[in-house]
Amino acid sequence: MIPQELIRRTRDGAALADEEIAGLVAGIADGSLSDGQVAAWAMAVFLRDLTQPERVALTRAMTRSGTVLTWPGDGSPVLDKHSTGGVGDKVSLVLAPIIAACGGRVPMISGRGLGHTGGTLDKLDAIPGYDTTPSLERLRAAVEEVGCAIVGQTADLAPADRRLYALRDATATVESVPLIVASILSKKLAAGLDALVMDVKVGSGAFLPEPARARELATAITTVARDTGLPCAALLTDMDRPLGRTAGNALEVREAIELLTGAGPIPRLVDVTLELAAELLVLGGLDPTAADARDRADGALQSGDAAERFARMVAALGGPDDLLEDPGRHLPRAPVTRAVYPDSELTVGRIDARAVGLVVLELGGGRRREDAAIDPAVGLAEIATLGEAVGPDVPLAVVHARTDADAERAAACLGDAYVLTDGPLPDAPPLIERP
Ligand code: URA
Repeated sequence: MIPQELIRRTRDGAALADEEIAGLVAGIADGSLSDGQVAAWAMAVFLRDLTQPERVALTRAMTRSGTVLTWPGDGSPVLDKHSTGGVGDKVSLVLAPIIAACGGRVPMISGRGLGHTGGTLDKLDAIPGYDTTPSLERLRAAVEEVGCAIVGQTADLAPADRRLYALRDATATVESVPLIVASILSKKLAAGLDALVMDVKVGSGAFLPEPARARELATAITTVARDTGLPCAALLTDMDRPLGRTAGNALEVREAIELLTGAGPIPRLVDVTLELAAELLVLGGLDPTAADARDRADGALQSGDAAERFARMVAALGGPDDLLEDPGRHLPRAPVTRAVYPDSELTVGRIDARAVGLVVLELGGGRRREDAAIDPAVGLAEIATLGEAVGPDVPLAVVHARTDADAERAAACLGDAYVLTDGPLPDAPPLIERP
């Protein structure tokens, strides 16, 4: 293989054969391709796209670049959900235990937040003692005993993706559909799944905000998954506003616990969670129809079965065994809280969800670089949503900050993220759509 010849062919829009793609991926994983060559090929893909067979070959080769897990045992299906990332998105924390309570096994390999979007692992890191990078043995034990374990990517799962992603991040080649598809699916296939449901976010807080691009990604993922033999469905869900009432790591864990323990109605969060859970239960063969599956998922939430699975998962991975009984004792709290009130009584007409996510990042709850530390306690609570009345007595949100100065800055930025109106409201996009 002469790498520069393959880069040249992709650059010129010619398709590579499966073995050529496999050769490139081997060179990415073993370091024989230089950073310059990997980045040049990524840019060629970004500009010229890949054919469907190339996308499938890339996904397969990246999957095989490291360990591929297998899940012997009782034969119950191994299932997962993946989201393209959003603001206030704590669906995974609720969905994984629901699926476990309904008979699936969920080894959920999650990521950290980057930019304005939050990451499930950062949320779980807010729980003292919870091991987000367990050994394979501990992961297996948790999945077999509890039914679900939400953890991070180990070094040996899809290592080619790790290197390629880091170089894409540094060379403005992240937003490429074929590269995103191979990146996401290679990690999921390496986790040994029987079925996957994708939550592709759309709107101002999404990674790909425009509906047409989000739809393109959803279709691309489901077709490549199908061609690699992984049953997969995708839903497009609205990220034109934060999901739920909180954004920030410990605050989101607390909100997920409230949902699991029935402490508060959080309608949009519940709807997205149950709809994704239902898709997954049907794909995994655990329910015949989406309506049956949704009923069972809802039942697991209402009965407390899902809460019990969540509590056991936290304990199995080293967290406190009374987190659900007393979250306030364990979850960190920021020293400063400040409600942000508008001057007059108006209605929320528009929210720039990305800007809300950036407020959390600026408070220290997100990171600018992948290796930066984050503050688990800070963020936003009581976030007002579209169509709600706000005013001198009803805040846009309550800022949780490390210092008064941070809170002050966050309050100003939050004000800029909201458009308030006393006129007619624009039509809100649907919460859930199929691609
Ligand atoms: N998430 C991933 O895992 N990979 C991408 O390329 C983009 C989002």
